[in-house]
Amino acid sequence: MVKPIYIAGEWKNGRGGLRATTFPADGSINADIATANADDVEEAVQAADKAWRDPSWRHRLPHERAAILYKVADLVAARATTLAALQTRDNGKPLTETMALVMSAAGTARYFAAACETLDESLPSQRSHDYITASVYEPLGVVVAITPWNSPIASEMQKIAPALAAGNAVIVKPAEATPLAALELARLFEEAGLPKGLLSVLPGRGSVVGEALARHPKVRKIAFTGGTSTGRRLAGIAAEKLIPISLELGGKSPTIVLEDADIEMAARGVCYGIFSSAGQACIAGARLFVHHNIYEPFMARLLELTRGLRVGHPEQPGIHMGSLINMAHLESVAGFVERAGADGGTILCGGKRLTGKTETCDYDAGCFYAPTIISGLSNSSYVCQEEIFGPVLVVLPFDNEADLVAQANDSMFGLAAGIWTENFRRGWRLARTLDTGTVWLNTYKKFSVSAPFGGFKESGLGREKGRAGVREYMQQKSIYVGLSDEPNNWSA
Ligand code: NAD
Repeated sequence: MVKPIYIAGEWKNGRGGLRATTFPADGSINADIATANADDVEEAVQAADKAWRDPSWRHRLPHERAAILYKVADLVAARATTLAALQTRDNGKPLTETMALVMSAAGTARYFAAACETLDESLPSQRSHDYITASVYEPLGVVVAITPWNSPIASEMQKIAPALAAGNAVIVKPAEATPLAALELARLFEEAGLPKGLLSVLPGRGSVVGEALARHPKVRKIAFTGGTSTGRRLAGIAAEKLIPISLELGGKSPTIVLEDADIEMAARGVCYGIFSSAGQACIAGARLFVHHNIYEPFMARLLELTRGLRVGHPEQPGIHMGSLINMAHLESVAGFVERAGADGGTILCGGKRLTGKTETCDYDAGCFYAPTIISGLSNSSYVCQEEIFGPVLVVLPFDNEADLVAQANDSMFGLAAGIWTENFRRGWRLARTLDTGTVWLNTYKKFSVSAPFGGFKESGLGREKGRAGVREYMQQKSIYVGLSDEPNNWSA
């Protein structure tokens, strides 16, 4: 059955042709999506431009805009099971993970609703008795949100909610592989009473639909999450148009285990940090630095935990890792592991596609790769420098803290880092030396919507989440109000 898309408040077939989304765990077809083309882009942008300028939205008070987001939050929570199942079908992540992403999307909508109705505007300190100055915020206009396939509903809500809270219209271009959650979100916004035109969801090819959206003269902000090379290309477009862009890009995050770490806590944290989401996470802790003094016992425990991970059908309960997104990606992961071997690395576990069958999972039908740990490479090796985006961990022993910091920071990326130590003061000092946007100390992959998130270096520009997150979708205006009864003079 052909699935329509959401163009300017109407459900209709896009004109870009059909594209099937498939379940990576067994290759079955989820839906045939009637994707968008350049004409659909034009229609959505024109409607969005009209909708955000419409006084019925433009003059809607913050608490009234917030009411829609609160309603959406409740609807997302109420439909959590369906939304999680849809996302699992699209990207092969275990249901426990997709459920957590759905609940985080509900929390994000609620948070930005609260931010929307409680953000203040200000009167800067006054410099004259003849006028007062007010500092207010205006929307940017039409915002384009371009998202990747690994955590669709969460990345989409992180853009839609603050953009709408700030009074903009938003057009979402979800990843080719994962349009289902975004389309369902559009239904919920519609049900919550969002006026037509303020939200469109245009699935389609990034190079066609995404690029046409980014280049459109009426688009006034690009909010992008995805790979660094795509981000760089979009940044070029934003630079030509002189419009703001926020970029949440790739990573190759270091995790550091100091010699005084609690081995059990650290081993479990490291294992989760890299292998949850089958490593398909921008923040995956993909480079592991372990102090020589505890290398043997730590690695013994880490390998035991890793070999015990259950890789299986993502709809089955109790599994740790589901399928990779598709066969091309699996081959790319396998290529990195092969390269590690050629560069002198030793595969300590995994290192292969899973094949055969269990009672609940036909590995041959899907894209399942074993959790893999590699030693014997240097930090400057190809496999340590490039983002693999799969279940592959490279382990590097260290002795000296200064050398450790230099290696950890020796990466073009700067998204996140983890530190495991029982010495809080040392951990804090180390955290301040790492060139990354997030540091986890004695934990990993924990998130709070109230804490800003984003990358250093080639991991991104700008921050999402936090109260300031909504300001990324606004522009500041100063209004001077004259108080004097005298006409303007020429000197000031
Ligand atoms: P990608 O860059 O290939 O695609 C991301 C989105 O951009 C997709 O919707 C795609 O269709 C679109 N796109 C592609 N080419 C485009 C173009 N020329 N113009 C406009 N849009 C275009 O990334 P991906 O493979 O979907 O996702 C994986 C990447 O995302 C990894 O590098 C990962 O680290 C990164 N990521 C980052 C974060 C973060 O918050 N920093 C979160 C999740 C994923």
